[in-house]
Amino acid sequence: MNQVENPLKWGISKLTQAGINSPSTDAVRLLEHCLGKRLSSLQNDELKTLHTEVLAQYFEYIGWRCKRKPVAKIIGEKEFWGRNFKVNEYVLDPRPDTETLIEEALKEDYQTILDLGTGSGSILVTLLAEGNLSCGAGTDISMECLKVAQQNLKIHRVDTRAMLINTSWFAGLIKGKFDLIISNPPYITESEYNQIDPEIGFYEPRIALCPSFDGLLAYRLIAQKINQFLKFEGKLILEIGYQQELIVKNIFNSTKLTFEKTLFDLDGRARGLVYRKPARIRYSEDDNK
Ligand code: GLN
Repeated sequence: MNQVENPLKWGISKLTQAGINSPSTDAVRLLEHCLGKRLSSLQNDELKTLHTEVLAQYFEYIGWRCKRKPVAKIIGEKEFWGRNFKVNEYVLDPRPDTETLIEEALKEDYQTILDLGTGSGSILVTLLAEGNLSCGAGTDISMECLKVAQQNLKIHRVDTRAMLINTSWFAGLIKGKFDLIISNPPYITESEYNQIDPEIGFYEPRIALCPSFDGLLAYRLIAQKINQFLKFEGKLILEIGYQQELIVKNIFNSTKLTFEKTLFDLDGRARGLVYRKPARIRYSEDDNK
């Protein structure tokens, strides 16, 4: 197949040979990124007369994808809840699974939102942009992630309503109560991680996926302090691995929160847990502990 005569077909056949399972979608996305426009907007023979630089970049991108680099990591952006987010090697690409959490979060209005382990900032940005009166904070242990999150807050014009904090979970927060606390923490177990797809194992930051041998460390740390930072009647939404429903519920049994519901993905797998802090009346003076 001639690379120059029909770059799209050439790309698709290269990706197919490399065993990539969405060769057409990926080749189209990569070519469109190089062109800076949709293929549907091209004139008849335009594909056959592409600039050398465009072609050279496209060949390089196809080469990367053959080495299993995810499309988002190649082009530096990923769509999430209808918006484009900058990504790089330091952040986990936003995933459709996490949109289940967004759907739940958007059922209410909040004045204050805290996104723990914000990464690219996709959850925080989406919630701030959709609920235009709220303000929020995002934490992350990685300064590199916060740089990306800051860019995304700016691109989507919510940076004036957000604050980023370089810390591990609640560790660096001293004061503050939030109406909504939300997190997609790392939850993959070490044995799952050892068998993970090369797309993830080679190109996604391990710290965002696999925190400890059993994948539960972040939930334990969140459970320890959640009561201190959640307002009365505030809501907690957590992403979980699809086999972790019972075990994470167990961890949160030690908190003062009331379990509200499990969130399921389109395949019917448990992907999120929702909790509520009861109204003040039910508490004694130690409600801040
Ligand atoms: N769902 C993600 C994956 O399988 C994991 C995200 C996470 O650990 N928070 O790649």
